[in-house]
Amino acid sequence: MNRNYDVIIVGTGVAGLFAALHLPRTKKVLVICKDKPDISDSYLAQGGICRLQGESDFESFYDDTMRAGHGENNPASVERMIRQSEEVTDELISYGVDFARNKDGSLAVTREGGHSRNRILYHEDCTGKEITACLLERVKELKNVEIAEQTVMLDIIADKECLGIVALDKKSKKTESVFADYTVLACGGIGGIFEKSTNFPILTGDGVAIALKHGVAVDSINYIQIHPTTLYSEKGGRSFLISESVRGEGAHLLDKNFKRFCDELQPRDKVTAEIRKQMQKDGTKHVWLDMRPIPKDEIKTHFPAIVKRCAEEGYDVFKECIPVVPAQHYFMGGIRSDTDGKTTMPRLYAVGETCCNGVHGANRLASNSLLESLVFAKRAALNISEEYTAANRTVKVNLQGFADTDKIFTEYKLMLQNAIKEADDERLKRN
Ligand SMILES: Cc1cc2nc3c(=O)[nH]c(=O)nc-3n(C[C@H](O)[C@H](O)[C@H](O)COP(=O)(O)OP(=O)(O)OC[C@H]3O[C@@H](n4cnc5c(N)ncnc54)[C@H](O)[C@@H]3O)c2cc1C
Repeated sequence: MNRNYDVIIVGTGVAGLFAALHLPRTKKVLVICKDKPDISDSYLAQGGICRLQGESDFESFYDDTMRAGHGENNPASVERMIRQSEEVTDELISYGVDFARNKDGSLAVTREGGHSRNRILYHEDCTGKEITACLLERVKELKNVEIAEQTVMLDIIADKECLGIVALDKKSKKTESVFADYTVLACGGIGGIFEKSTNFPILTGDGVAIALKHGVAVDSINYIQIHPTTLYSEKGGRSFLISESVRGEGAHLLDKNFKRFCDELQPRDKVTAEIRKQMQKDGTKHVWLDMRPIPKDEIKTHFPAIVKRCAEEGYDVFKECIPVVPAQHYFMGGIRSDTDGKTTMPRLYAVGETCCNGVHGANRLASNSLLESLVFAKRAALNISEEYTAANRTVKVNLQGFADTDKIFTEYKLMLQNAIKEADDERLKRN
């Protein structure tokens, strides 16, 4: 890692990698990540990525997204995301992503809760890994991009505008100020601050906390999605997701008497509420999910990772129901960004799950997140290229204040928790 770059990208998920791929090859780019590059939620995405199914699908895709988001979505962002869905998924294919295909070679499409038709591209039940691993390979081929793993952003360098970051190299234990003309935050979600989450624990909303610290606007910070179906386990650790497409393909939710109790294809927040109500009524710690209504062959080809993980936990999905329970899953709120990824601080961009451009409103529609991350990461990179000017890098940074990293991250967590609570309290007052 050097001290000067043209652009710094914080994050190696789909958002960070796609931004790197769309910056000019003449720019010197640093991409950092807290752990290894493949430790990101992007790798965990199971269900798939939405793609507009021709012009006749536009209204329905738009309405499904708005309905799931309770109409609190930003219409301009939703429209841009849908309109660019064919372009970015075509690009993924050109990079080598292998989406499932029908016998005639056309792209296969599946369905998840909240969607009124099939429009989700997938690769078995590990679409995120297929996409992100491919993007990572393409980025590694770029001579202008350096990837620094085990490198943690502790803060941004701000003097009315963003001039870079303060970064800790976990291997050498050295903290450095790293300057750049533009900084792109692509730091993912906030699941790491919750006890039960499907997210990697390292994803603790650092970008959002740093934005709060510097007075950069954030939006909908209390809009946190709980996924209705994660595998119930007495063991600790990350909650294993049972993708919504399992219900999309026909799986049933059952109560303690193995009776259906809700429409499984409603948006996530509604199914979560129904499950919690049922658990309270039954006095149980979970409900059951029955995958047996799905044809055996479909289970084998579409959901091999789920079958394997359930077997590891002692469940044979072909013969019995599996216990499922809701857990924290996604962050709809985040750093306010416009449709070009710009935040309220000059030279600072935010893309992917860490930002809030209003696409998801109050609740994300399944399989819109990978798409949103890609579309707006590309837009941000193109906007940086178009508006590029050099920054004044004369600001001095006092690195002594960054010696105690545990204290820094404890403060960030507290800051985030307080902001979420305040936003929740305000919402309660309004209603
Ligand atoms: C189990 C699971 C299943 C999902 N399934 C789907 C699905 O089927 N379809 C869909 O559309 N979405 C799905 N999602 C959501 C989707 O995967 C994520 O929202 C999306 O991948 C986020 O991408 P991202 O690039 O913004 O962040 P991430 O992929 O999470 O990457 C974050 C990056 O930021 C880095 N970082 C964070 N903080 C710092 C710091 N302080 N310093 C340095 N680096 C930092 C991390 O190291 C990491 O590299 C799923 C999510 C989960 C958890």
